[in-house]
Parts: sequence; structure tokens; C-alpha cells
Amino acid sequence: MTDQQSFRYDPQAVEAKWQSRWAERHTNEPDLDRAPRPFYNLMMFPYPSAEGLHVGNMFAFTGSDVFGRYKRLRGFDVFEPIGFDAFGIHSENYAIKLGIHPAELIPRNIANFRRQLTRIGGMFSWRHELSTTDPAYYKWTQWLFLQLYKAGKAYQKNGAVNWCPECKTVLANEQVINGFCERHPDTRVEQRALEQWYFRITDYAERLLSNLDDRSKMDWSDTTTQAQRNWLGRSEGAEIDFALGGDGGAIRVYTTRPDTLYGATFMVLAPEHPLVAQITAESERAAVDAYRAHVASLDLVSRKVGDKDKTGVFTGAYAVNPATGGKIPVWIADYVLMEYGTGAIMAVPGHDERDFAFARKFGLPITRVLARAGQDADAPMLEAETDTAGYALVHSGMWTGRPAAEAHRDLTAWLEREGHGTKTVRFRLYDWCISRQRYWGPPIPIIHCPSCGPVPVPEEDLPVLLPAIDDFRPDDSGVSPLARHEEWYFVPCPACGQRARRETDVSDTFLDSAWYYLRYPSTEFADRAFDAARTRRWGPVAMYIGGNEHAVLHLLYSRFLAMVLHDVGHLEFEEPFATFRAHGLIVKDGAKMSKSKGNVVIPDDYIAKWGADTFRMYLMFLGPFQEGGDFRDSGISGPRRFLEKVWDLVGQCEHVTLAGQEVHQSVVVKRHQTVKKVTEAMEALSYNTAIAALMELLNAMREANCSDRHIVKDMVVLLAPFAPHFSEECWERLGGVTTVFSAAWPTWDEGLTVEDMMDIPVQVNGKTRGKVRVPHGAEESAIAAAAMRQDAVKRFTEGKELKKQIYVPGRLLNLVVG
Ligand SMILES: [Zn+2]
Ligand SMILES: [Zn+2]
Repeated sequence: MTDQQSFRYDPQAVEAKWQSRWAERHTNEPDLDRAPRPFYNLMMFPYPSAEGLHVGNMFAFTGSDVFGRYKRLRGFDVFEPIGFDAFGIHSENYAIKLGIHPAELIPRNIANFRRQLTRIGGMFSWRHELSTTDPAYYKWTQWLFLQLYKAGKAYQKNGAVNWCPECKTVLANEQVINGFCERHPDTRVEQRALEQWYFRITDYAERLLSNLDDRSKMDWSDTTTQAQRNWLGRSEGAEIDFALGGDGGAIRVYTTRPDTLYGATFMVLAPEHPLVAQITAESERAAVDAYRAHVASLDLVSRKVGDKDKTGVFTGAYAVNPATGGKIPVWIADYVLMEYGTGAIMAVPGHDERDFAFARKFGLPITRVLARAGQDADAPMLEAETDTAGYALVHSGMWTGRPAAEAHRDLTAWLEREGHGTKTVRFRLYDWCISRQRYWGPPIPIIHCPSCGPVPVPEEDLPVLLPAIDDFRPDDSGVSPLARHEEWYFVPCPACGQRARRETDVSDTFLDSAWYYLRYPSTEFADRAFDAARTRRWGPVAMYIGGNEHAVLHLLYSRFLAMVLHDVGHLEFEEPFATFRAHGLIVKDGAKMSKSKGNVVIPDDYIAKWGADTFRMYLMFLGPFQEGGDFRDSGISGPRRFLEKVWDLVGQCEHVTLAGQEVHQSVVVKRHQTVKKVTEAMEALSYNTAIAALMELLNAMREANCSDRHIVKDMVVLLAPFAPHFSEECWERLGGVTTVFSAAWPTWDEGLTVEDMMDIPVQVNGKTRGKVRVPHGAEESAIAAAAMRQDAVKRFTEGKELKKQIYVPGRLLNLVVG
């Protein structure tokens, strides 16, 4: 017989035991070639750009792991890989800050991340771990670049780009927040003209948009698909030509509101529009040139901010509004961007806020061309409605009186007939700029030859290794640090053999992470990026969990890359993530965790004190997984006490081999209710609800003094996704072999989830006045209380004194009043 001491729950011992067993027995490594029910459970891999993971990271990883473990208990072969997004500016900046070379620092950080992820008990298939900095990985990142290049989807262009003077590199538009650097909220982003590499993601805009509505391809969180829709920014409108006088040609504009054409009272060109020099009148040239020079010093993003004070100058030129035939003045202003549309707009100040502000400032005419019945259409006010239902055209010649929606369509058709314009669909999306003037990334595999131009590095020469250099820091020149190393960058041209130089830019870290899910199942193959059969078995990812901050960057880029690979024949599917759910965020005592606030919580001490299982349960109990919760130290003892009570319950039935015990009806009902509730909650990622249901089941069992072995076993299985080591140990104590994760998830009987109810007739002074419905075995006091609440009974008892109550169990309740 075991003594009392050994029954004590010792999380450190239990967790160490099971972690080493999982490793020895390869418990978490499904057979990637033969698994009959593959389920690819993926969590966004971390950037090792810090010493370790904080509780916010642990919350996300645990939530993903809970789902993977749950699916495994549902009979799936779950592949849950992990790796490190270790290239890129986050990691490099961290290394610069610490004054340590990233090649030395990053592996050290990875080792600590790996230790933490093991300690928390993630079901990771460590044999398939990867790091994007490993030449065996980035060889294939470079290969991908070449596939895009060959398919005509990668190109080089000299263009205006966002430049962060702190990062000393180019930023994608997605990385600029209201004119400031995403990583440096105090640093204004500048505009620079640089030769850059781009991917033609805009070619895929329509498909990236339409697939969002296709549930057979992607079932994603609504917030995420909406963010992508907004980012893609599809609009339907018209391209319209406004003729310039004489042989001056025309100014082409794109508008989403051709119905407002009669209200176009002036035009605005982007200051860098190529027509500006040609059309500017001599009298205005000095002012125009000065203004253009001023705008050239501004960054692209702050120019897009809508509510700032309007500036601009008149060019002295006029164009003809094709609808009215009238001449309207042509201005230049910084709020019009060359990058969007045609770099020119027809200004409709009666129905556009920015145009209205501009017209007000410079005294330009404001004509309303849309009004609702009863409105004074002659007041020069702003009516910037995007929903034009109920509006009809005014001041619009032959179209006056027509509903706005009809006019949109018919005016576009008229413009096409008259040769003034064409119906056009546009997107807000830009091509993806993938080159970075930094060190810590995969060199772009291109060789520039003075005779041949850009020549791709032959695939058999991959990888182009990132050289080990000491002066890796970026400078303000806009040239990559690799350009300082002639011995690295001079190479013979692969096409003609003459002296050529390597591309010195490295690729964006978002390229590394746009395909990592394809590499995981194929890490052992050195001769291919991803194996066709493996990819067919495991792809697309069944469940992907990650932060919504990646809604438009990583998730959009990954989708784009999968589409290209699909189109060139490397992939069977075109949508990489069948299901995506965004996790919530953890705050600390009500405030967002951040290093600057000093409230970042490192999980290690909590795990050392309470154990990983308690910590996991606590994190999952903080709030709904997709919303997040508030981390307070005071809450963690609750889950620990819960586990101790379950531990004791397991002890009570550990050595009972016969199910001789009669199980209380209410516990049976509770058991079926709990299985149902937990199952539904797991599917919905409502982990806090699942844990609450388990706690209720425990209470019901303790109240009924029940330690039925079958129910306790069910409970251990239901708990296993949250407290895997604990459940393994309990399972073994209850006679389980191998692992609790090969047990079957409990099922429920719908009929048994409803408590057995009975109807009790209620008499007052011997006369039947009503009946109450109560659970079988309800106490007399509960039945009497329920009876007294009934109106039919109240009528005869109110204001009277209850002298006596007679209860015939299961048959009758008689209330004697007087
Ligand atoms: Zn920056
Ligand atoms: Zn050449």
C-alpha cells in the first residue's frame, strides 16, 4: 500500500517525468508519411528578438497547444511543429542594442526559447524544428525568390520608398503607422528614391479578395478577413480623361464616383506628376517648383493623413470637364499621390472632405450634384455620403433627377460611348517591396552583370551564404552593409563569365515566414523545399493560430506566395490556412504589457513555483482565448487547488477495481452535461468555459461524495489538453498505458444531459392549487420554496401564516395556512 506522502501532487516531479517520457517515446511525433488522419496544427512561430518568451507569448502558444491536444484526443494524428523566425530587423536591432553580433546572440536566444517551450509542455514535434537563419532553410527562401523571378512575379524598380532613419532601411507601407515607423513610434518616416525588388502581389488582388468569402478554402476570424478586405481596398469606378487645351492631350483621373462628375470644379495633380512641368504657365513656374521641392522632402504616409491643413499651388493651366464642357483650373497638392490611381484627381468639393477643405482654403467653387428630396441643393456645403441611397442628381444637366446609383452606372456607360472614359476596377494594394538594406537576412540571389543585367544565381549554386562580417550595422547611405565587402560581392557572371557583382540587399523577413509552414513537414529533405507527398498529406494547415497584428502582413503574403506556387505547379492548394483564429492579448493589471512600462511578465518563475500545468490552466482561465485577459498574480492558486482536488479524487478510486459504487443521478447528469459543454467549448476555443465546466463537475462529485472511476477517468481525459503532464500521471495511476493522448475523448448521451424531473401536485389546505416541476430527489425545502413562488399557490397563501407543510416524497405537497 502506498503511504500518504506519495499521494501528494508534486508538479515538478510529474512534469519532468512526462517530458522525458514524451521525448524518449517520441509521443509527439506523428508518422508524417502514413498518418491516416492528419491534422496540421500551427502556431505563428516566434521571433527570438528577446531573451525569452513572456506570458503573452505563452498564452498564445498554450492556446494553440490546447487545441492540438484536443484534436489528438478526438482521434487525429496531430502535427504540431515549432521553429524560429530568427532573421530580420527585430532580431538584428536587438543584437545592435546589446552590442552582440546577431550570429552569436540569436542562437543563444533560440536556446532559451526552446527551453521555455519545452518546459510549458507543448506537444511540439521537435524533430522538425527549423530556424529561418539556417542555410538549409534559407537556401529554399532564395529558391522561392527565383521561382517568382522566373514566373515574372519579381522585378526591380526605382521608386519612392519609405525610409526609417532609425532602422536605416526601407519599410513596407504596412510598417508605417500614421507617418511613423512601426518599430520607432517617435521617428518620422522619410521618402527616398531607391532601386528595390518587388513582388507582384497586385496581380493577385482580385483572387486574394474573392477567396476570403470562400468558406471551403478558408474559415477565418471575421476581424482578420475584414482587415484583409480593407487592405486590398477594391473599388469600382471609371477612368476619365479631362482634355487640356490645344494639343496638350488630357489628364486622366480615376474616380469611384463618376456620378459626381458635374460637381468636378477643379483638378489636382500630384506634385511629381509628369504633366506638371509641361502644363505649368510661366507666371506660376517659380511657385510650382518651390512647392514641388518642398513636397519631395515629405514621406508618403504622412501625406495620406486626411485631416491636416491643405497646401497646394495653381499651375495656371485649365482642363475641360467632359460633362459640363466647362474649363476648370488645374492645381497641384501634396494630398494627391502619384502611387495611387493616376496621380491626378477630379476635385468634387461638394462631396469629398479633402476637396471641400481645399476649395474652402483657396476660394474654389463648390457645386453640389447630389441631394435628397427637400434639401437645399444650392447651399455650398459638404455632403460626403458614401452610401448614396435616397440621393438624386442635381445640377447635372440631362442627368438631373436621376437616382445616384443609376447615374453611377449610366454616366460611366455614357463616358465610354463618348470616348471620355472607361469603367475600371482598382485596388488600394501596392506591390510588395521585399529588399532590405540590412545584414541579417538571406541575400537576394541575383548577380548584376554589366553586360547581361540582372542574372539569377543558378539553383545549383544556392544557398548564397550570408558572409560572416563584423561591421554588420546599417548606415545612412541606403546601401546594404554587404556592399562594403568586395571580396564577397564580386563574382563571375553566371551567363557570360565577366566580372559582375552580387545583389547586396537581403530579403524581407516576411518572405522567410511566408512559406515556413511548407518546410516543417519536410525538414529532413535537403534536395527540395517541400516534398510533394508530405505536402499533399499535411497541407493546407488545418488550424492556424496567431496574433491579429499579422492580419495584413504575414497572412496576406503567405496567401499570395501559395497562389504563385500553385500557379507554377509546385502546390496543389492555393490557400495555405484552412482555418485561422486570432488569439487575444494578455494585459497586466489592466495595462498593456510593454517593456517601457516595465510590466512584462516572464513566465519562468511562475512555472517554477506552481508547475506548468497550473500555469497553463491559469492562462486559459483568464478570459476567452480569442479576447485575452488580465494577468493578476492573485488568481493562480485557484487552478492549483483544483488540480490538487482532482489528484485526491484519483487517489480515492486508484485502487478500486470494481465499479460497485452506486453513482448519484445528479452526478451522472452533470457528467454528460460537462462532456457536452467542454466539447463544444473546445471547438469554439472557449477554453475558460471548458475549465469552468470541469470545476463544476468536480464540485458536484465532491458534494455527492462520488469518486466513480469511470467519471474520474473521463475527467482526466477532458483535462488533458490543459494539464497534459498531470493528466498523464493520473491516467497512469488509473491503469492507463502509454499515453492519455491515445485515450478516446468521452462522449455524451443527449438524453442524459437533462436531469430527470418530476411533477409534484401542490395543495393548499387540502385542495389542489397547482404543481411544481423539480429534479428527481429534490429536497422538501426546495420543493416548498418553488411551490410558494407559483402565482396559483400564492393567491391562497399570501398574507397568511404557514402553519404546517406535509410532504409525501415524490407524490404530494400540502401547505396548511391560516
Ligand atoms: Zn524604424
Ligand atoms: Zn554577364
